[in-house]
Amino acid sequence: MGEGARAGVVEYQAPAKINLYLHVLDRRDDGYHDIESLVVFAAFGDVVEVRAARSLTLSVTGPFADVVPKDESNIVHRAACRLAAALGETRGAAIAVTKNLPVAAGLGGGSADAAAALRGLSDLWQSDLPRNELQALALELGADLPVCLAGHAAFVRGVGERLRVAAELPAAPIVLANPGVPLPTAQVFANLSGRFGASLSDLPAVRDGAALASSLAPYRNDLTTSAIELVPSVATVLSFLADQPGARLARMSGSGPTCFALFTDAPAARRAASRARAAYPGWWAIATHLAP
Ligand code: ATP
Repeated sequence: MGEGARAGVVEYQAPAKINLYLHVLDRRDDGYHDIESLVVFAAFGDVVEVRAARSLTLSVTGPFADVVPKDESNIVHRAACRLAAALGETRGAAIAVTKNLPVAAGLGGGSADAAAALRGLSDLWQSDLPRNELQALALELGADLPVCLAGHAAFVRGVGERLRVAAELPAAPIVLANPGVPLPTAQVFANLSGRFGASLSDLPAVRDGAALASSLAPYRNDLTTSAIELVPSVATVLSFLADQPGARLARMSGSGPTCFALFTDAPAARRAASRARAAYPGWWAIATHLAP
């Protein structure tokens, strides 16, 4: 079932994805990379509304609507068409996306939107597609889709298709900060040119935010150097976050340029986010917490 209903409109959350760590182990012959990552979700993201309609339509509003395609190239539209084809569905749907997440940001916004649309349309069209077929369809749309569709914190391996549910994580306060420059994932991987990292075991279970930050210390984001070479302000974001009172750990998410910092408490996180916005008016910065 959906996550909230209003006069036939059902709302699905499309939360920001955060890679608490991201190790790039190798490049495969098909050009994709083998990774290992702990993916968690923030209590902040886009919202996707779905309602019954004769044809398939898509509208995009919200702070980042201007930089998202509104035509068939939008990943939400592509996801809807793929699902309709798999189901032989001829009914349409009116899909409305509220784009709160920056684009090409390392937060998997497009993947989150597409996953929310797949959940919404599966409900609307009463899909009987087996779970594994829906996951396979999702993976064809993007490597981050399977974990976004699963919707819970997970250890991710392979190119993003091998998921293991992570033990419940603390709802740690975090700040997300982005220097206001889009950075396409493909560029960051292309610029990596063989600088791979070593594999580590999955993060052990942690009991609170302090243990989460200290346990994460030996883990890495292997795309950081590549991203900084392409967008030097990523380094400024990282040092700004690390210097904030109450910051326990600052790291880049995904292929960047968005970085996150874990904080001791929510007021410290809120103060850091407002300081970031005041000191760097071109940045996007918000305080939120990890989704439990
Ligand atoms: P990742 O964390 O997987 O690297 P990202 O946050 O860097 O993802 P997205 O915001 O998902 O990247 O956008 C990547 C590209 O997809 C952009 O160039 C954008 O134009 C395109 N795109 C298509 N549909 C959407 C959508 N609904 N939301 C965001 N971007 C979209």
